[in-house]
Amino acid sequence: MLIAGNWKMYKGPAETAEFCVELRRQLADLEGVDVAVCPPFTSLAVAVQVLAGTDIAVAAQNVHWEPEGPFTGEVSPQMLLELGAYGAIVGHSERRQLFGETDEGVGKRARAALDAGLSVIACVGETESEREAGETEDVLRRQVSVLEAEDNLVVAYEPVWAIGTGKNATPEIAQEAHAFIKGLVDVPVLYGGSVKPENAAELLGQADVDGALVGGASLDVESFAAICLAATRS
Ligand code: PEP
Repeated sequence: MLIAGNWKMYKGPAETAEFCVELRRQLADLEGVDVAVCPPFTSLAVAVQVLAGTDIAVAAQNVHWEPEGPFTGEVSPQMLLELGAYGAIVGHSERRQLFGETDEGVGKRARAALDAGLSVIACVGETESEREAGETEDVLRRQVSVLEAEDNLVVAYEPVWAIGTGKNATPEIAQEAHAFIKGLVDVPVLYGGSVKPENAAELLGQADVDGALVGGASLDVESFAAICLAATRS
């Protein structure tokens, strides 16, 4: 079971330090659940420092496929490793929808990060109109087709209509999508989309839900810790 917090473009270094000190304290006795935080690039170093010596991992929200080069605004797997990050998210729907990332690019980012020794959380998920048009399985099949199963890869099923909307997938919808994804690529699958302390246990209790990628609720240390604790009971 993995609970990862995607902070998006929130929390600079000072706020990150404060959050991580408190998270460390609140999760000191946590057992049986892997926890990761995914701050913005400029807050990664301080998160790594403050969480050193704990089991709480630090991951980036994206990563490029080249080790270095003329790629303005990008960060390489090697740079993240040097910093002490354990992994990176790739293919978040905000990257796909707002920044034009493609399945092919997501596949390249995942491949290079895994080859460099990072763990990868690869996000997939259909939009509301795709679900309504009965295209969910086709979309998931296409998005997952660029990924290959391996030890350090996990997929996050994040239905776009559930992200930041307060409208989480029902446990049944999540379970069905997770089982479908695992039939395509045999790796753990996290659920993401309006996970909160109140709905975490039910979602995490589904047979094929192997953890959660948490956005909004991961920004508040109490609610993120509560979701981590809920995971120990699932
Ligand atoms: C996310 O951005 O990955 C996410 C799941 O967001 P939220 O939990 O806010 O829906």
